[in-house]
Amino acid sequence: MDDIDESFDEIIPKVTYLYCKNCDKLITKRGVKVLLISDLSTELYSTDLSTRNINESLETQKFSLCNCKIRNTFCKSCSHDLGYHVIYPCDECNEGENNSHYWLFHSKNVKAEEQKDLDWDNQQVNLKENEDPIITLYPLPDYTICSICLDLIEEAVVLSCGHTFCQICIVREIDLNRKCPIDRKEISTELIFPNYNLRQCIEDVDIYCMYGCTKIGNDWTLSKEGCTEVVKLGRRKDHEKNCKFRTDK
Ligand SMILES: [Zn+2]
Ligand SMILES: [Zn+2]
Ligand SMILES: [Zn+2]
Ligand SMILES: [Zn+2]
Ligand SMILES: [Zn+2]
Repeated sequence: MDDIDESFDEIIPKVTYLYCKNCDKLITKRGVKVLLISDLSTELYSTDLSTRNINESLETQKFSLCNCKIRNTFCKSCSHDLGYHVIYPCDECNEGENNSHYWLFHSKNVKAEEQKDLDWDNQQVNLKENEDPIITLYPLPDYTICSICLDLIEEAVVLSCGHTFCQICIVREIDLNRKCPIDRKEISTELIFPNYNLRQCIEDVDIYCMYGCTKIGNDWTLSKEGCTEVVKLGRRKDHEKNCKFRTDK
């Protein structure tokens, strides 16, 4: 029993920021250095959460060193190889010392910056970093809200059971639980599909220009001095890039 506790003390991960080695773009703020269970001489970095800076191939492959099913990942900015996403771990890896990190990056593809002053357990689990504010003109119907993050659904995907979520939210849920959070039916990353109709419906939602929004605490509210323009969510940039209230032009 004591032995187990001690070995756990040693594997408290250090928070590491990972950047694409090719274009220097930040990939994740929740990186950590790991050794591969199926080949302990291979050094990799991993994260438990995908980010919007990571693109995932649609093609599933068997991993070369074990029976895990994987998909390759790429930098969203420059398309450079990053590593792979384990979409279904093999029995051997599932029984090994598994830290629930299913996103792995080859050390030759990423630049790592260890954050000595940050503590892993307090590191924010924020699926949607640096999002632009969304204040809608009218209350939205429930079917436009993701039941995982409780926000407006982004990049809507539908599962084989028929339920729809943000892509980033459901991929995380599949990594951790492999079940639909609503009906507990088994699901896999191979069986999620874009929900184009809902995506269109969400792009057409009327919102206020971001230069009319101000943050009070954690919530966005309308500012009295800012822009009062109403725009379609999917076309907000058309107005916002030239908005006369924009201060960073
Ligand atoms: Zn890149
Ligand atoms: Zn495996
Ligand atoms: Zn969501
Ligand atoms: Zn479901
Ligand atoms: Zn504006």
